[in-house]
Amino acid sequence: MTTPKIPTMDDALAVVQRDQPVNRTLDLPPLQVNVKHGDVLGFGDQEVTAQLIRIYRIAGHDPALAQELTDTQLRLWLLYAVNLLAENRAAVPGFDFKGALTWLVRNIPAEPVMPAPNHAEFELHVLGRTGWLRAALKAKVARLPDQVRQQAAACYSPPPSNVPSGPGASSGPSDQTPPLDKDLLRKELLPKLQNLLVNHVVQWRRQAGQEPRFQRWEDLGLIARLAQAVAWRMLQPYAAAREDGPFFTGFDYFSKIYDKTRTMPSEQDLVKHLMNRAYVVGEDTSAGKSIFTLAGYDSMRSDDRVFLFKTLGQWIADNSTARKLAVYFFQHIGSNSHAGADGGGGVGLVTEFRTDRPESQARWETIETIVHEMTHNLIHPNLLAQTDKVRRPMVIKEGFIEVVTREVFNWMIDNGSESSTKRLMMGVEGQLVPPVRKTTLGYAESGAYADQIFQLVGRERFLTAFMTGDIELVGLTPS
Ligand SMILES: [Zn+2]
Repeated sequence: MTTPKIPTMDDALAVVQRDQPVNRTLDLPPLQVNVKHGDVLGFGDQEVTAQLIRIYRIAGHDPALAQELTDTQLRLWLLYAVNLLAENRAAVPGFDFKGALTWLVRNIPAEPVMPAPNHAEFELHVLGRTGWLRAALKAKVARLPDQVRQQAAACYSPPPSNVPSGPGASSGPSDQTPPLDKDLLRKELLPKLQNLLVNHVVQWRRQAGQEPRFQRWEDLGLIARLAQAVAWRMLQPYAAAREDGPFFTGFDYFSKIYDKTRTMPSEQDLVKHLMNRAYVVGEDTSAGKSIFTLAGYDSMRSDDRVFLFKTLGQWIADNSTARKLAVYFFQHIGSNSHAGADGGGGVGLVTEFRTDRPESQARWETIETIVHEMTHNLIHPNLLAQTDKVRRPMVIKEGFIEVVTREVFNWMIDNGSESSTKRLMMGVEGQLVPPVRKTTLGYAESGAYADQIFQLVGRERFLTAFMTGDIELVGLTPS
């Protein structure tokens, strides 16, 4: 029998140290946060009360209320939170410290997440919700040099087509696109749009006698929740930098999902989906000048947009084949209608498996779609609002979504384990094919331009703009 080791003072101190709230430097590139929660632990009860009274006073609240806050956990939470802001106050010149304290006192959580050495939830919550993260990113992320801004501007809005350039050309207002050639647009666009729909629909062709197979709803739900958790984790500090953003206001991705395969679309739904694809077709330059360029279609003119919308509506009203294709397309493409004027909608997912490939490959594609549709919910409204002010709206509307999808989806692959893969492949039959990292972005040219902007401005600026709406960082000009 061995005699137990007699504990030393060092052993005891190690225990005390271990159970103390942490003192550390939190790395949230490009930010660094000083965490000194340990200092608070030395306070006795009276000192805590004295500190709280001081905090309430600075925050403009009745100091007497501080004495009414008797719950130990909540008292400490508030003290830790203020301590964290005070420690990092100097890093953000001009930060509204009083405003932040006022917010904290008003918003003491009912079930607080306390500081812990193995995660940063407390810090992200406090620094995010009080606006410190957003202000810190604004102070830290360098403004875009003029030259890069001009390069980016060319990606959003090429000069209007068919306008003489060079010496002698007029340099009037920017809206110089010639009037829309409606017949040309209709004649060129609709057949190509129909081809696109046909190519999409045949992907679900089954051999005679083969029954369709559907993905289980609960499996997609698990993936949706995982995608949200991964986005929150890997998009920091950007994801927490919008104080009223989806992650702080009860965003529950899975609750927004519905099964598109079993949904009958309205006329409005159909035309919206066709609009989305009409831009893909209209902006395509793979065979020379795009249809939009040839027809003088200018997305910045609302008349042009309205004309296209009406044309597509008329097309499916007159042409039953086109209509059938559009309905099938709607039922077999993921989509997110949160950006619509109706505000409602949700995230539609396709549950049917494609049969021209292993089910596991189809599942990986579903996973990528789930990430893509979620990302639509994360884009800052300021940034989304720029779509009507640029000549290539799809660069922001879909291209930017694709950039962030690539970040999140590749993270899932790169950090996947055997057990996480198993969960992602739940309900899948047949051989498991390994996932392929996302390298090229969807939405053809729009994806390519978005990627160019991402490369030009860099990841820090891009994600800051995407999450906080500081649009100058991606080369857009606030109006
Ligand atoms: Zn999309």
